[in-house]
Amino acid sequence: MSFVELQSITKKFGSTIAVDKVDISIEKGEFFSLLGPSGCGKSTTLRMLAGFLTPSEGRITVNKRDITYLPPEMRGIGIVFQSYAIFPHINVFGNIAFGLVERGEDKVTIKRKVEAALEQVGLTGYGERYERELSGGQKQRVALARVLVIEPEILLLDEPLSALDKKMREEMKFWIKDIQKSVGITTIYVTHDQSEALTMSDRIAVMNEGRMLQLGSPIEIYEKPSSRFIAEFIGDSNLLDANVTSLDNTGCEVDLGNGVTVPARYSEHVKLNKNDRVGLLLRPEMVRLNPTDQSELPRMKGEIADEVYQGAIRRYRVKTGNHEIVVEVPNRPELAQLSQGDSVELYWSTESGVVVP
Ligand code: ATP
Repeated sequence: MSFVELQSITKKFGSTIAVDKVDISIEKGEFFSLLGPSGCGKSTTLRMLAGFLTPSEGRITVNKRDITYLPPEMRGIGIVFQSYAIFPHINVFGNIAFGLVERGEDKVTIKRKVEAALEQVGLTGYGERYERELSGGQKQRVALARVLVIEPEILLLDEPLSALDKKMREEMKFWIKDIQKSVGITTIYVTHDQSEALTMSDRIAVMNEGRMLQLGSPIEIYEKPSSRFIAEFIGDSNLLDANVTSLDNTGCEVDLGNGVTVPARYSEHVKLNKNDRVGLLLRPEMVRLNPTDQSELPRMKGEIADEVYQGAIRRYRVKTGNHEIVVEVPNRPELAQLSQGDSVELYWSTESGVVVP
């Protein structure tokens, strides 16, 4: 049995099924993300785990203990929300000490623990400040310190970076991952932002319309999505209409039309048959232009429709006979620059062409 188990968890609000028979097992110390678009049921799942909502069906266990109907304060779970929820009339020290005071810990212990928590989140010396004297990133550090100081068994993070600007979000996602690693706390992170989930998680559950669609490591989710929805939701994608012409246990061949047939891979979670109409997923960064060798890589002829300079990369839109393919090329001086109308040959490794149903 895993440390956290959600077994066939369902939540209905009237006729809306917000969460539909979701099964998730989370290991101790894991950084686990629930990822999906707005309304997919991720917050509802988190709230059932925290004890703010009771499931309509199913069971939740933590460390073999059934917590399905336990009140939030008895679950050993700490939660950080998008809104920092810091008390404005109490200073940072008081905010972080709050849970310890409630628990009746003595003053000396409280001082020691709060100072350790301030150091842990990089805010040593900020104890006397008030909320209005903190930046967004600092407020979120206080919110995290306030939870970590009570040493919960599980940390829940509900879109904690949404209120921050882009630069701060980038910084904080690495920082949160570092803290989680050093504390070793089992963490469940809710987000609609695929880059946050890919950067921080050990594993990700992708949800849509109340259902869990795929559960896997960031690499599995990004490189072998089990559906068109996931391929398009996570990262940029080219999805080319294709037809399965042959398959075996290791891979398959697909017909892209215009006499082009290429080998491809598919996820073991996908059931595929000969003659299925599918999408061939090619990530823009996996496609290269103009092969210089004669190797047997999958390839296709095309013409540059347009080019967009994006600093670190150049992004080309290439028209082939019946497809349009976006290609991202690193902006390096040794790579020849191409312009609209140039004839090109596209190629990619067999591993990076993935079939999605
Ligand atoms: P967001 O990122 O926008 O918060 P989400 O993925 O977290 O989205 P949920 O908040 O879990 O989605 O909502 C899932 C579905 O359940 C939605 O259709 C929502 O409208 C519905 N829902 C959530 N809470 C309630 C409620 N208290 N009463 C009725 N319907 C609700």
